[in-house]
Amino acid sequence: MSAATIPFDNSYARLPDAFFAPVDPTPVEAPQLIAFNRVLAEQLGLDAEMLERHGAGYFSGNVALPGSLPLAMAYAGHQFGQFVPRLGDGRAILIGEVVDRAGKRRDIQLKGAGPTPYSRRGDGRAALGPVLREYIISEAMHALGIPTTRALAAVTTGQPVYRDRVLPGAVFTRVAASHIRVGTFQFFAARGEVENLSILADHVIERHYPELKGAERPYLALLDAVADRQASLIARWLGVGFIHGVMNTDNMTISGETIDFGPCAFMDRYDPRTVFSSIDQHGRYAFGNQPGIGQWNIARLAEALLPILDDDEDKALEAANAAVGRFMDRFQAHWKTVIRAKLGLADAERDSDQDLIRDLLVTLYEQKADYTLAFRRLADATEDESADAALGALLEDPTALGPWLAAWRERLSQDTATPQARAAAMRRVNPAFIPRNHKVEEALGAAIDDGDFSLFAALNDVLSRPYEDQPAFAAYAEPPKPGEEITATFCGT
Ligand code: AMP
Ligand code: MG
Repeated sequence: MSAATIPFDNSYARLPDAFFAPVDPTPVEAPQLIAFNRVLAEQLGLDAEMLERHGAGYFSGNVALPGSLPLAMAYAGHQFGQFVPRLGDGRAILIGEVVDRAGKRRDIQLKGAGPTPYSRRGDGRAALGPVLREYIISEAMHALGIPTTRALAAVTTGQPVYRDRVLPGAVFTRVAASHIRVGTFQFFAARGEVENLSILADHVIERHYPELKGAERPYLALLDAVADRQASLIARWLGVGFIHGVMNTDNMTISGETIDFGPCAFMDRYDPRTVFSSIDQHGRYAFGNQPGIGQWNIARLAEALLPILDDDEDKALEAANAAVGRFMDRFQAHWKTVIRAKLGLADAERDSDQDLIRDLLVTLYEQKADYTLAFRRLADATEDESADAALGALLEDPTALGPWLAAWRERLSQDTATPQARAAAMRRVNPAFIPRNHKVEEALGAAIDDGDFSLFAALNDVLSRPYEDQPAFAAYAEPPKPGEEITATFCGT
């Protein structure tokens, strides 16, 4: 198979002109392929061998993939609550869509491939650190079983980018179900382009929610369906301690995938107020605020859809309000599924389960326990009471969970699963490995300062099997030691 046979089918490029600006990547001086996701390339039905061999050219944008139709997408968005009517892809270029082996349509996008008509004062480029960060964390999210955009490749450009200091430049190749966001709807709503709003909604239904095509009120059904996927997504984030960090409406997909890994981070010690992003000074996007922000963003989507929800304005508003109002119930239902599985509660719910869940989380918070390890140790403790000590060792007062453990065991004794089966099920939802911030920073530092990508590769490898105990890599499971803590992450712009 030669390059010419890449089966691009660019449906977004067939939408009206107002949806995007055609733009070619700007060539770079000395591209080098530093990471390539062969498994993903094969899932996409691409010629992995050919892409890897010529990856420096293709994934830098220096060589166009035949059949690609490069474009920058138009979108608006609320950034930290402030509406910006024109954002758009300022440093990302969609090169095309392919239908993968499972029949799913996927976008392939180069991030950092040069300026576009939406770049404003930005350079359209990306630095190596944020590119590697997105590579590591998006692939880790996928391995954790959480809907997310994927990493297909990363190249260095051989050119510097100028941020607060001079950094090596890089280009990231992202794969997504689509890059359509809440902000894409806001773009047309803000301009009063009702026709384009329904063209966009129809495109999205066809692409992401085909089951809604026959619905009585398809656009209202779409709003509900997007709300449900976002509620589910955020519940899963909370299950693994993920803090997105910049949940602006332009960073919330319509497909329900996690997107934009700028200042994101995983929480070590359990505290719902945790914030890492250096630009989130008021904690708007703190760990525990994410469900509320999800609802706020869905309200912005509802507003944008108002003109097409119903011919009668009052009825449209009423329907939109009701849909937004349902968000928290949806979230609670998804969260209950996530947290019950984390505690090993399998059979029918009991009245006291809510208390059991709350008491555990309160104790983990009060005892400054590591969120990930506490649940992993809980899986051990369901099989073997001698593992209680390892759980206790994560707490300031090792006996603090004693009464809770007794109540939990009493509750589990009413379930039918064997301890072994329960422990195995708990280990499938409570990861041993998450991308610990200090390990991510260590890998990035070695790559940026010394051109050493071995830690980056090792980290990706460990994180590709997050639910397996990998004794040889025990150090990757550990929380930061005093002095190793990362307290702030920075946006990748
Ligand atoms: P983000 O922080 O990635 O969600 O980006 C917010 C907006 O800023 C989007 O419109 C981006 O395209 C734009 N942007 C971010 N970084 C750059 C850059 N280096 N050059 C041009 N535009 C950028
Ligand atoms: Mg963004």
